[in-house]
Amino acid sequence: MGKYKIEYDRENCIGAGTCTAVCPKNWELSAEDGKADFHQDEFDEGEDYDCNMEAAKVCPVNVIHIIDKKTGKKII
Ligand code: SF4
Repeated sequence: MGKYKIEYDRENCIGAGTCTAVCPKNWELSAEDGKADFHQDEFDEGEDYDCNMEAAKVCPVNVIHIIDKKTGKKII
């Protein structure tokens, strides 16, 4: 559980791997289809937040988003 959650449009991931480069703690490329998968879908402020924000920012097709669970607002 956490204050923020990941919204991820896996279908449109192109397997660029940039998210896994900047946030290897939570993102890795699937050995099966080369698309990214994440381990933890909820987190609070701090290291995990920063890591996932970075992943969302660098994704070239903008398929990673972070939602504030309380307000429902899309932060990125
Ligand atoms: S950066 Fe975006 S497109 Fe690239 S692997 Fe990660 S989610 Fe997929």
